[in-house]
Amino acid sequence: MATTKSKRKSSSASAKKSDPASSSSPVSQKRTKILKQEEEDLPNASVVVEAPAVNNLPEKVEDHKEEEEDESRFIGDPVPEVEATRQWPHRYLNKTKNTGNIEALKGTVPPKEYIQARRHYTQALVDNRVPFKLGDGAYVQADEGVPYYICRIVEMFEGVDKELYFCAQWFYRAKDTVIQGCYNLIDDKRIFLSEIKDDNPLDCLVEKLKIVRVPLDVDVATKRAMLSNKDYYYDMLYLVPFSTYQNLPPDNEADGNESDSTISCESESNVAVTKVSKIKEVKKPVMRMLDLYSGCGAMSTGLCLGANIADVNLVTRWAVDLNKYACESLQLNHPETEVRNESAEDFLLLLKEWEKLCQSFSLIGGGDSLSVEKDEMEDAEDDGDDDDGGLDEEVFEVEKILSICYGDPKGMKNRGLCLKIRWKNYGPEEDTWEPIDGLGDCQDKIKKFVTEGFKSKILPLPGDVDVICGGPPCQGISGFNRFRNKENPLSDEKNKQLIVYMDIVEYLKPRFALMENVVDIVKFAKGFLGRYALGRLVSMNYQARVGLMTAGSYGLPQFRMRMFMWGARPNEKLPQYPLPTHNVVTRGVSPVEFESNAVVHDDVKVVLEKELFLGDAISDLPPVTNDEERDEIPYAEPPKTEFQKFIRLKKKDMPGFAGEDSSDHLLYDHLPYKCNNDDYLRACEIPKKKGANFRDLKGVRVRADNRVEWEPDVERVYLPSGKPLVPDYAMTFVEGRSLKPFGRLWWDEIVPTVVTRAEPHNQAILHPVQDRVLTIRENARLQGFPDYYKLLGPIKERYIQVGNAVAVPVARALGYSLAMSVKGTATDGPVFTLPKKVPNLEAEENQ
Ligand code: SAH
Repeated sequence: MATTKSKRKSSSASAKKSDPASSSSPVSQKRTKILKQEEEDLPNASVVVEAPAVNNLPEKVEDHKEEEEDESRFIGDPVPEVEATRQWPHRYLNKTKNTGNIEALKGTVPPKEYIQARRHYTQALVDNRVPFKLGDGAYVQADEGVPYYICRIVEMFEGVDKELYFCAQWFYRAKDTVIQGCYNLIDDKRIFLSEIKDDNPLDCLVEKLKIVRVPLDVDVATKRAMLSNKDYYYDMLYLVPFSTYQNLPPDNEADGNESDSTISCESESNVAVTKVSKIKEVKKPVMRMLDLYSGCGAMSTGLCLGANIADVNLVTRWAVDLNKYACESLQLNHPETEVRNESAEDFLLLLKEWEKLCQSFSLIGGGDSLSVEKDEMEDAEDDGDDDDGGLDEEVFEVEKILSICYGDPKGMKNRGLCLKIRWKNYGPEEDTWEPIDGLGDCQDKIKKFVTEGFKSKILPLPGDVDVICGGPPCQGISGFNRFRNKENPLSDEKNKQLIVYMDIVEYLKPRFALMENVVDIVKFAKGFLGRYALGRLVSMNYQARVGLMTAGSYGLPQFRMRMFMWGARPNEKLPQYPLPTHNVVTRGVSPVEFESNAVVHDDVKVVLEKELFLGDAISDLPPVTNDEERDEIPYAEPPKTEFQKFIRLKKKDMPGFAGEDSSDHLLYDHLPYKCNNDDYLRACEIPKKKGANFRDLKGVRVRADNRVEWEPDVERVYLPSGKPLVPDYAMTFVEGRSLKPFGRLWWDEIVPTVVTRAEPHNQAILHPVQDRVLTIRENARLQGFPDYYKLLGPIKERYIQVGNAVAVPVARALGYSLAMSVKGTATDGPVFTLPKKVPNLEAEENQ
């Protein structure tokens, strides 16, 4: 930031070089720091100088004038003293010293020192240019080679030190926000208002700008059309904590400084907001959710529970996943959901075709509607033909259309819209998928199917979905993937789902979106993919923010940190992050640049519930052996802990469960991945004590540098199969430094992360006192699945479903937050405190 009071010469760049050391404003240094920090290069990011270069400044009109006329000065009368003291009391605390402590002003926190003023003005002349007025937009001199900063002038005053100042409220360009290298997703006329204000010498003002506030909820073309000759427009606030893009405060001009640059139609959107919230007050909202990449549905299950606890009736209406078994599990637990076992990309193509079909049958507006009368006539004729050809055995007649998809279910190398047909006089086993194009003569059947499907909403149309949740898999960033494409992560097929997810949001335009992912999304390739996702949301006029949450902080014995990105349409309140309820130290995995995105209590003194340990979660479960095969067994003992009591609740007693189901349930999925005999024998040899692992096996010893080596003089032990007791891979894993191979967990431990694999070879997943890996149910407990949530599919698949899941208590807390936004009861700010205990937790014991 330019801070020198030197006289400016428009032809000389060096005269304007800033000198932070002489800064009269600590905030201006801070601003410089923030910008520097956020301007780091990214893959594919080229530095674009958007403002005119310094020496391209418009020539001074009256170049021949004497140098002293270059001086910056205020013009016009000063603001009357009474008025100035009323508007800017913090500037008039001390008439002699240059700083006044704001603490002197009642109720203002945090204390801050302000430059003290002799008087305020409303106009200034810098280098004899067009006068700058209070409220004007302006370019401000930056360091050499750095594009001008953009601000609005919110004060102009002479300090008690007789220096001339202006107070700037800064704007960010997209590339100066967390979007960084993905700024090309954002219109280059669009800037973002910050809440940062600071004081600068008057002569740093470079050029007057036209900056106009526009409503958020219109497209770029409309925004540009409102601009005419304006230089920039803004429609959102950007705040560094939690990388937040959000609605402007309704009364941004409250400081009375705004010039005439607000375009009035914003008031319309404010009116709309008021209307919406009035309606919401009257009626309990019913909200429809689409769970994308749903897996077995943990995320949407938790979100619905949380929202319903807060009295918002959120329902998972649709779910999409490529994995057949995950879909089966979800359907079993959510009979109310339309579960689609297909890829998200096909789902999007299907949605677009479905909309066209609905249009063609005039169920919705737009598109080319088919002339129904004509079709009906043709159908009638067809029917006649059928009657004539009734003797022809080769003619198959469509009895009913059962289902619809996009793709190539028949494997005919021809992708498109297909319908599943029940043939007349044939049973379900003869059902086939047929391309819609080949079914031209059954328009009536198609019409019936589409009309019924439209009514029952088998598929959502744009505007039907209130919430989209989901975690698009980005295997291209996984630490396990050795072939990661750092240069251009988006071109990696394995990261494509991030684009698909955002395309679906763009198409369906839900009121809210919640995207989950591994923390690597903001780490890998300098966080490119996370920045891309935010850029997409912001470019679609969504408010958005990013938080990193640790599962253990919400009452689980598991660390597991994940990224959650909220998006909310302009007339919604952007949901907050629920602060931790349990005292788990977050393991330092958040990248430095995203440290302010970690959802943690700032106040270290806040009293939280005690952290949970493995024993709290699983100590009530009956012992099972390595070769247990039963999917359902009775509970052997009553619950021992609050956690166990809660997780064992019947569906109907589960806080937030909206259905009717009051059935008892057995203990499901309490069976382990069956280790082969060698691994089983190895597990038996691992002592039943805290911290035990392969290092405790005969023949292994640990050197001073914590690496393992073979004990000399001890003969290697072999199993009956002929394989060694201690496999080579255990000795060499992480160069012999790992404690994980055949590691036993202990009762008082918090596990790092429940994963999808269940072999004990390179992870500590053996039960504390039984010779087997943790069962599916034990893993499910660590992820906070209620015990009534039964999984389907082969054992390995069930482990995958559990390991992939969003921890249910985290999703529940986020669902609660969503409900607060929907109801309009959310507080301001990016985080909030959950109520002390989830209501009804003390429900009567079951079993
Ligand atoms: N959010 C889920 C877990 C999702 S894991 C939960 O909380 O339970 C990611 C899921 O994406 C996996 O179930 C995987 O089968 C699915 N998936 C991967 N590629 C997909 C694609 N192209 N389309 C749809 N689903 C896909």
